[in-house]
Amino acid sequence: MKYVGAHVSASGGVENAPVNAHDIDAKAFALFTKNQRQWFSNPLTETNIKQFKANCAKYRFEPGQILPHDSYLINLGNPSKGPLGQSRKAFFDEMKRCELLGLKLLNFHPGAHLKQITEEECLKLIAESINMSLEKTHGVTAVIENTAGQGSWVGYKFEHLSFIIDFVEDKSRIGVCLDTCHTFTSGYDIKSDKGYEATLKEFEKIVGIKYLKGLHLNDTKKDLGTHVDRHENLGKGLLGEELFRRIMNDNRFDNMPLILETPEEDLWAKEIKWLYSLVK
Ligand SMILES: [Zn+2]
Ligand SMILES: [Zn+2]
Repeated sequence: MKYVGAHVSASGGVENAPVNAHDIDAKAFALFTKNQRQWFSNPLTETNIKQFKANCAKYRFEPGQILPHDSYLINLGNPSKGPLGQSRKAFFDEMKRCELLGLKLLNFHPGAHLKQITEEECLKLIAESINMSLEKTHGVTAVIENTAGQGSWVGYKFEHLSFIIDFVEDKSRIGVCLDTCHTFTSGYDIKSDKGYEATLKEFEKIVGIKYLKGLHLNDTKKDLGTHVDRHENLGKGLLGEELFRRIMNDNRFDNMPLILETPEEDLWAKEIKWLYSLVK
């Protein structure tokens, strides 16, 4: 079963996200459980939590079909003590919010070294940050998203992802989300038939498909290896349509959230419908 959806708005309260997802015929969704541009938001109320769970039940969204995304401000590999501490505190808060909502996954961008430490040192800080939050929470898996490698972000190579996983103590609560735009612009040629298979083979060898918890389905405005993160609507960018046909017919991506983060929200319903039409 393929669970396709989009990163929908939770404006007005998290309980609105499943309704917004249902409105576009999504079978999965992503959301921010708080304002993604602020460090801290008000705690979730009992009503938020109750309504969120009720709406998910009503529209048949199980926790395995929901992939929350953390705040853009968080950098779990920040080399400076103060900002690192703030990021860790905020990440713990995000994990806790997911736990309260009965969710099982939290997707996040690993971190950036800000040209002050090595990539390896940054990756170790990230793993340490993850361990700290996993220790204090229950049932939520930390899902590292691969990056385009823009600026000083790490996570643009499968080796980075496996390096972090190696240092995470609870292997049952660590996972990976691959973003098709980031994968391509970071240098993996998933566009060609051969490149697609080779990339997945490499992922299996270096990370392991068992760690894959979801995909972000985005086309890209920028080309292979540019390390630039610019999403495009499906079929309108450089990836073209074939990749999405392959994904929709690949059982390695069954039973996990497949989330659109494409820029024109008005097209999401159409994109979801189109993706399902590709299934043979
Ligand atoms: Zn992301
Ligand atoms: Zn993404």
